[in-house]
Amino acid sequence: MTMSIQENLQHIKSSLPEHVTLVAVSKTKPVSDLMEAYDDGQRIFGENKIQEMVEKEAQMPKDIEWHMIGHVQRNKVKYMAEFVSLIHGVDNLKLLKEIDKQAHKHDRTINCLLQIKIADEDSKFGMSSKEAQEILQSQEFSELKNICIVGVMGMATFTDDEQQIKQEFNRLTAIWEQLKKVESENCNLKTVSMGMSGDYQIAIENGSTMIRLGSSIFGERNYD
Ligand SMILES: *Cc1c(COP(=O)(O)O)cnc(C)c1O
Repeated sequence: MTMSIQENLQHIKSSLPEHVTLVAVSKTKPVSDLMEAYDDGQRIFGENKIQEMVEKEAQMPKDIEWHMIGHVQRNKVKYMAEFVSLIHGVDNLKLLKEIDKQAHKHDRTINCLLQIKIADEDSKFGMSSKEAQEILQSQEFSELKNICIVGVMGMATFTDDEQQIKQEFNRLTAIWEQLKKVESENCNLKTVSMGMSGDYQIAIENGSTMIRLGSSIFGERNYD
């Protein structure tokens, strides 16, 4: 039996601790599906392609928070700078500078998460905890007035080994605890974005404050 988007959402929400924010990952899904979630009260949506997010933003109500969860190309930041509320995948200072520049043009501050590589897989983007530490402590970073680093993001290895997933999530939480000690006007690390449909329970048990769920809400994605 397949459940509706609203049934899926309600089922998930009823099991979430209050301190965990749910990002509904709607990539590849039509606006009608997003509207079903919207009508059930969902206001935070995550997309991984800027163009797709821009198109959906134009068609949907304005009280939505749009999160960019995918890898961001610097030359495309300008298309989302006016409205994006959180960029999860920031993994270098050059990108951060571009986000700052584009945010400045719109006279706003854009919240960002530093993506940390916690998985074994080579394919996952992200930086080391050392690189993150270096960025946060750099002079160049302290001069960026139109961005705010509000936390970290990570993706665990795609595996059935729950012990490994747990270890990777624990690493991210530990790195977050370290980075939180850095004091700077443009950072306030309160968010740990980790956990997807297959591993969000483990993520929550190990310190997540923000989960990104796609297929468990909207069903399997169709890429053709
Ligand atoms: C697609 C995606 C998700 C959601 O994946 P599901 O397994 O469908 O929940 C979460 N985070 C990122 C970065 C993604 O690209």
